[in-house]
Amino acid sequence: MRIGILGAGQLAKMMALAGQPLGCQFVFIDPAPDACAASLGEHHVLDWSDQAVLAVLKHCDRVTFDFENVDSSMLKQLAQVTMVRPSILALEASQDRLKEKSLLHQLGLPVAPYAEVSSRPELLAAVEKVGLPAVIKTRRFGYDGKGQSLVRTQEDLEATWQALGGHALIAESLVDFTHECAISAVRDERGQIRIYPLTHTLHKHGILRFALSPSSANAPFVDEAKAIVTQLIESLDYIGCLTVEFFVTHAGLVVNEIAPRVHNSAHWTIEGSACSQFENHIRAIADWPLGDTEGHGVSLMINFIGRMPSKDMLQISGLHWHDYGKVPRAGRKVGHATWQLGSFDELTEKLDDLSDFLADDEVQWLMDLIKQAG
Ligand code: AMP
Repeated sequence: MRIGILGAGQLAKMMALAGQPLGCQFVFIDPAPDACAASLGEHHVLDWSDQAVLAVLKHCDRVTFDFENVDSSMLKQLAQVTMVRPSILALEASQDRLKEKSLLHQLGLPVAPYAEVSSRPELLAAVEKVGLPAVIKTRRFGYDGKGQSLVRTQEDLEATWQALGGHALIAESLVDFTHECAISAVRDERGQIRIYPLTHTLHKHGILRFALSPSSANAPFVDEAKAIVTQLIESLDYIGCLTVEFFVTHAGLVVNEIAPRVHNSAHWTIEGSACSQFENHIRAIADWPLGDTEGHGVSLMINFIGRMPSKDMLQISGLHWHDYGKVPRAGRKVGHATWQLGSFDELTEKLDDLSDFLADDEVQWLMDLIKQAG
């Protein structure tokens, strides 16, 4: 099975690492000559919308992608010559925050109040509709909190317009959440669905810092989260892995966004579940039987942002290290570790081992997270 991936970042790398033992070969398209998955297959240094992509990928049995902002017209052309998974419909919905919210709303799923913004007067009308505080986001090309501005009072509107006014925008109410969580599911060609445990997530400055599974704080929401991801994955006739991110509020779950691909909140499944999200994505798109998605023990995923920590961290027993091989840069996800433990008691007892490698504020966030989840 020859699998083409648009993008050769860390998600493509982890898909290839999971797919190679299954006998898959990989072909990557990425304009960056030093893209981190490159050494795991055939790398073509091409822009994703370059017509030469068609000639390269038509020889693949399947084509998938590792990021949302793939040119969907290229995917439509690829779908004429090979099998593209997951569906372009899901990709297009996730590329535009307004389309995504409308889809969720049409399906009757809970979303924060939102409004379209395409002019300065509409910005005022939108915040009047959704209320203050509000988060103003670019409709396209936003990720990890990029292209977002918080508006607390009407006085903040001008600065927000100056910063983001050149783009098509969406205004959302600022959701007052107790915590955030995410659920990943995988569906195959025959419509079989497997769902991973609901994962507790902690973001700082819009970027995921920690993911923890299981979490007792999520227990009351598991059935609802499973029902939501099942409804979405079925209504999109989706094949592969899909993640739904939620805000947990006193009134219940609110969907933040969907990701039509493997996702950072489920990286812990590499060590913490029988079959990782990466392997299951490959199994689903290749039309092979899906693997088990149950978690075992307690998994804590720590994102490394900006730079990798000292390798002394490897002395921590049960810690699994993933260096993406990327050039360090502020705000860039360069790697992660998953700490696999037998129980929450063990996690609490051994937390000091990890604290030495985290900044003081991160230790505090982690302690708060464990208190909420344990
Ligand atoms: P996003 O890129 O939209 O997933 O946003 C990244 C993070 O910013 C989320 O995980 C939240 O922590 C925060 N955030 C985004 N939108 C909102 C919102 N409407 N209300 C509260 N927090 C938000």
